[in-house]
Amino acid sequence: MIDNVVVAPPVRAEVVGKEVESPFAIAQRQFDQAVQYLNHYPKGILAKLRVPERELIVNFPVRMDNGDIQMFTGYRVQHCTVRGPGKGGIRFHPDVTLDEVRALAMWMTWKTAVVGIPYGGAKGGVVCDPKQMSIQEIERLTRRYTTEISIIIGPESDIPAPDVNTNPQTMAWLMDTYSMNVGHTVPAVVTGKPLELGGSVGRHEATARGCQFTIRRAARHLGLDLTQATAVIQGYGNAGSIAARLLAEDGVRIVAVSDSKGGIYNPKGLDPVAVLRWKQETGSVVGYDDADTVTNAELLELPCDILVPAALENQLTAHNAPRIRARIIGEAANGPTTPEADAILYDRGIFVIPDILANAGGVTVSYFEWVQDLQYLFWDEAEVNRRLEQVMNRAFDEVIALAQKHKVNNRIAAYILAIDRVARATMLRGIWP
Ligand code: GLU
Repeated sequence: MIDNVVVAPPVRAEVVGKEVESPFAIAQRQFDQAVQYLNHYPKGILAKLRVPERELIVNFPVRMDNGDIQMFTGYRVQHCTVRGPGKGGIRFHPDVTLDEVRALAMWMTWKTAVVGIPYGGAKGGVVCDPKQMSIQEIERLTRRYTTEISIIIGPESDIPAPDVNTNPQTMAWLMDTYSMNVGHTVPAVVTGKPLELGGSVGRHEATARGCQFTIRRAARHLGLDLTQATAVIQGYGNAGSIAARLLAEDGVRIVAVSDSKGGIYNPKGLDPVAVLRWKQETGSVVGYDDADTVTNAELLELPCDILVPAALENQLTAHNAPRIRARIIGEAANGPTTPEADAILYDRGIFVIPDILANAGGVTVSYFEWVQDLQYLFWDEAEVNRRLEQVMNRAFDEVIALAQKHKVNNRIAAYILAIDRVARATMLRGIWP
């Protein structure tokens, strides 16, 4: 009964109606800034790394609960597979565009290289609003999208994971669908799975824990005592809510948090666990007792020691960077800061821990999960966190050393480190044929 077909927006709508510069244009500008310090590589090698290797667009139908068939558009982009299989999350969001997925895939390439894990970079997304869909509709969407992209994903080729609005349950459906299609269970095709299905202990907290490790390191570097520090967190999903809890465990006072519906502020401090419970019960942090309401824009400009953008791209721009009052910015989100804002923040002496370093804990423990799945041998949480801390601390120190050597901001330093590793690997492999 196909009596009510709802057509998805045209595929090329991605660049229309966006006031800000597109995320991929920003990602390429960041790349261009960094390669000025890598001019010993042939131009062609760098040109290869500036564009994605492979892009898949899928348009597919999903039966909705009311019987209607609705068309959806999804993407999977593999930016680079030189250092290993593609790796990166899948995002469900109404604003997903091919351009955004390209940028996110490219950022994954640099992220896996910064922390030195044997992966390339990839990303996926589906244009949809999961907040308006039932669990059953989301399951059918996930299974059909997985089938559509199964021609390019696999445990040795491209390994998805959670991202914005996807979670361990989504990954379980993805793993099951892929496994049904190939005829046997393949846990290593996806990470961020439930523990019962070959997930890793510590993966759920890993993005936030990696962020906590880099903030600790930055605080030590700057002589900031965390037990006297305050933090503001934008976004209260997996990364933001757990970062708030972990920072509070380090003695940091969490003074403001937000989600897509707005923010709450109490200079005396918020209890992150109670706020999470409130969000789970009511659907938002807004309305939480004993706090003032602030907008997401106001929240970013509040006085604090540590600002953690843990939501979407393009939050810190030339417009608000002059008014940011934090000492440390720990980017739990991907792409929250534009290059213009970077320059302003650097001039103002604000210490930015760039996304490809600050939030790399997620993909690092994804790597641990994949390794455990391939060995069918599982580690305990202390082992996972110990290895994660080692990886994050080493990457942090390498980035800071390059920033000092080249007198550049931490993001450009992280890019120099990452692009150098990927370019070297590309030279060693050679250009085929
Ligand atoms: N979506 C996360 C990120 O942006 C995790 C990716 C992964 O674990 O593969 O880093």
